[in-house]
Amino acid sequence: MYIKKVIIKGFKSYKEIATEPFNPKVNVVVGANGSGKSNFFHAIRFVLSDMFQNLRSEDMVALLHEGAGYSVVSAFVEIVFDNTDNRIPVDKEEVRLRRTVVSKKGEYYLDGKHISKTEVMNLLESAGFSRSNPYYVVQQGKIASLTLMKDSERLDLLKEIGGTHVYEDRRCESLKI
Ligand code: ATP
Ligand code: MG
Repeated sequence: MYIKKVIIKGFKSYKEIATEPFNPKVNVVVGANGSGKSNFFHAIRFVLSDMFQNLRSEDMVALLHEGAGYSVVSAFVEIVFDNTDNRIPVDKEEVRLRRTVVSKKGEYYLDGKHISKTEVMNLLESAGFSRSNPYYVVQQGKIASLTLMKDSERLDLLKEIGGTHVYEDRRCESLKI
């Protein structure tokens, strides 16, 4: 499973872009200062990470693209996954996950169908995406912090990467009832 394409409309500095199909292994983003590299990764994390889940409405509005003398009223970021290995537990070779910003709120769509935030996070976690710790976007300082982690923290990270954390969470939830 890998990100095949990213489509962005009205998000931060992007009025509208769709990337060419990505290489399954390594892709490099280059550009001048202020050209939107960080915004591009922000867009990806906006869809995949729960760091951006509980945004206040003013933070949502700040994500909307502002051009010269205008501001868009809605935005979306869509990530197209190649799922030929079925790592995302959906029986499709291509999976499209979209998060929108409309009326200061974010909504999710899986292959065009509205789904809840919890469903998205469970789906991503089963596919090995960490929700609290988006290791798939390696930010500055991350490598150093991985080497300095306690063993228990590193074990937690491995559980998230392996996609088993979600089952532990569900087990805890079911024991509460
Ligand atoms: P650097 O190489 O300096 O890290 P970068 O390529 O990472 O630069 P970004 O930080 O992604 O650049 O982009 C910064 C630009 O995005 C700024 O010019 C900023 O004005 C613009 N920007 C941020 N939010 C919005 C928005 N809502 N609407 C339009 N432009 C925006
Ligand atoms: Mg940057």
